[in-house]
Amino acid sequence: MPELPEVETIRRQLAPLVEGRAVARLDIADPRWCLPLAPEAVVDAVQGRRVDALARRGKYLVWELEDEAFLLMHLRMTGTLLYDPPPGTPYERVRFVLDDGHDVRFCDPRRFGTGELAIGAGARDAFFAARLGVEPLDGELTGAALARMARGRTAPVKAFLLDQRRIAGVGNIYADEALFRARIHPLRPAGRLSRAQWDAVAQGVRDALTAGLAAGGATIDDFRHADGVRGSFQDEFLVHRRRGEPCVECGTTVVKLVAAGRGTYACERCQPRPRVRRRAR
Ligand SMILES: [Zn+2]
Repeated sequence: MPELPEVETIRRQLAPLVEGRAVARLDIADPRWCLPLAPEAVVDAVQGRRVDALARRGKYLVWELEDEAFLLMHLRMTGTLLYDPPPGTPYERVRFVLDDGHDVRFCDPRRFGTGELAIGAGARDAFFAARLGVEPLDGELTGAALARMARGRTAPVKAFLLDQRRIAGVGNIYADEALFRARIHPLRPAGRLSRAQWDAVAQGVRDALTAGLAAGGATIDDFRHADGVRGSFQDEFLVHRRRGEPCVECGTTVVKLVAAGRGTYACERCQPRPRVRRRAR
């Protein structure tokens, strides 16, 4: 699934190509994309409007259109936006035809991606306030903030990091990479981490996301840049998807386990397992 670095990579590529242009036509080939809204309602709000900015919040791409109309796109598992892709590019669900004749197509083999509307900045802010926590690269992500949010939480720290209402934009890849960098086992109960450990997690999240961005994102599940190029961060993973391979720090074999219902990778020497409390029988 595209996470913050993948969505931000697309945004950075597309923004200079779409900002200042108008959406001359919006074709919604798959009406499921914007449910429960009718496609006509979305077309009516978007078509003919100028793109003031292409923004991002968490894993959402935000088309900021004139008159404070906002189209909020979530790419989900396999969605990507392609600029002037070759004819016959499969899995197209939505097409934006710009007033300069170029087009942007939303291609999404598994069809989980969504499009939603917010009319007015207040509606947009309320939409995100209900769904998303801090932006990890905006200076809001600190050990102090994480420690405060985690107080009393018994869920594993991996589940805590994946919760978009706490930190926006971190998914399975970057949670594993961040916890390895912080030397924290993914199954440790979030409420039991020390303040110093939360500082390390905050730093680990920022470093993992920054490295991902520098590599143009990771290519898993067919993620592609707006120009069709694939990101290369998967070649730089420290633990994620490296089961059976030696840890880059200590040489111990990387293991795969399940945390928060997700395939999770760790070096159990660098990231010691929490001590199991014996249950009364
Ligand atoms: Zn190790």
